[in-house]
Amino acid sequence: MMGAAKAGRVVVVGAGILGALHALFALERGLEVVHLEKDPRPQGASVRNFGLVWVGGRAGGAELELALRARALWEEVAERVEGLGWRAAGSLTVATEEAELSLMKQACERADAALRKWQLLDGPAAHEANPEISPETAGALHCGADALVEPRLAVHAVRKRLEGFEGYNWFPGREVMQVAPRKVRDDRGEWYGGDRVFVCPGATTTAVVRGFAGLARTRRVRLQMLETAPYQGRLTTSLADADSMRYYPAFDLPGRASLPPQPEVAARWHAQLLLVQRLDGSLTIGDTHEYDEPFAFDLDDEIYRHLLARATSLLRRPLPPVRRRWAGVYSEVRDASRDLYWREEIDDGVEVVSGVGGRGMTCSPAIAEQSIAHLAG
Ligand SMILES: Cc1cc2nc3c(=O)[nH]c(=O)nc-3n(C[C@H](O)[C@H](O)[C@H](O)COP(=O)(O)OP(=O)(O)OC[C@H]3O[C@@H](n4cnc5c(N)ncnc54)[C@H](O)[C@@H]3O)c2cc1C
Repeated sequence: MMGAAKAGRVVVVGAGILGALHALFALERGLEVVHLEKDPRPQGASVRNFGLVWVGGRAGGAELELALRARALWEEVAERVEGLGWRAAGSLTVATEEAELSLMKQACERADAALRKWQLLDGPAAHEANPEISPETAGALHCGADALVEPRLAVHAVRKRLEGFEGYNWFPGREVMQVAPRKVRDDRGEWYGGDRVFVCPGATTTAVVRGFAGLARTRRVRLQMLETAPYQGRLTTSLADADSMRYYPAFDLPGRASLPPQPEVAARWHAQLLLVQRLDGSLTIGDTHEYDEPFAFDLDDEIYRHLLARATSLLRRPLPPVRRRWAGVYSEVRDASRDLYWREEIDDGVEVVSGVGGRGMTCSPAIAEQSIAHLAG
């Protein structure tokens, strides 16, 4: 049993990016942190994603503000935490035809386009911005606000930084089973208390989460991803195909209705192409969206063929062989117009923070900041 709660102690459950950043910001404020994680090391959505700090596609207003604040915080965190792989690389959403370009043009006319650092580029300008894209490109939307971290490294880099604080107490392999006012109990029956408890379980629906009433306001989404061997060229930006504009709320504009129908397989898998080059030269490629549970335990090849063909058509050099495939699951709030994410006080002094969805790697610093500021207030 941890000693009795003393002033200035925070308990954090979950060592994904959200839990890790809660711990970091609390320690930086001089608080003691007790950090529990059910696995020996975190392997949830935070290590399976693209690492995209994707600001451009966010809905105008509160969601864009949250993403912009998070981006600014990522930049600051990168100065204090070594090995995040932070790059302010920007992105190109690539158009192959007129209706896509016309929607991009409308997007650039949004009142908040400058905040997103959006710029419509013709074919040659797009090629100049990223010489690795195919010369056939009709044009592209450049987003100067988009950035990157390395998902396989970032959480572990933050965790390494946490180990450097005296007030940090790390308990891996402990699954939290029960909450009570200002404390939690793990699977061994041990209790951990503090002034405030933050439960950041991601999409894991273990016993403790099933007890939370607000869970019904979220849903889980499964994505398929892959990684290639190192690509011969150096991509100066991340890439998206124009299908991405079907999903991101910022493109909910009249021109969206004029986009040509999506290929049947892509529509069925709610697919878009996102492509990111890793520090070692490899390419992370995805993604798909499945909403119906129970999710498949295996990976489906049909949609990978579509994504690989798309990636091949976007790039000027041949795609390297695939070396890894995986799936990941995130939790998202069902109605993002009501809440941007799920924050709920589930017991006295115990808050659950989750449901950030496909923008969790982007927004986590700003959400953790809100938690800790609220604590200090
Ligand atoms: C394939 C994929 C691609 C994505 N791409 C992007 C992207 O490019 N950009 C972006 O912004 N977002 C992206 N996302 C979303 C983003 O990854 C998630 O929103 C984010 O990582 C969620 O972080 P988290 O810390 O809440 O959850 P997680 O990373 O899942 O961490 C939760 C942790 O809590 C632990 N845990 C759960 N229950 C308990 C318990 N009872 N006791 C102890 N520990 C517990 C788990 O073991 C886990 O380690 C993507 C997601 C996926 C799946």
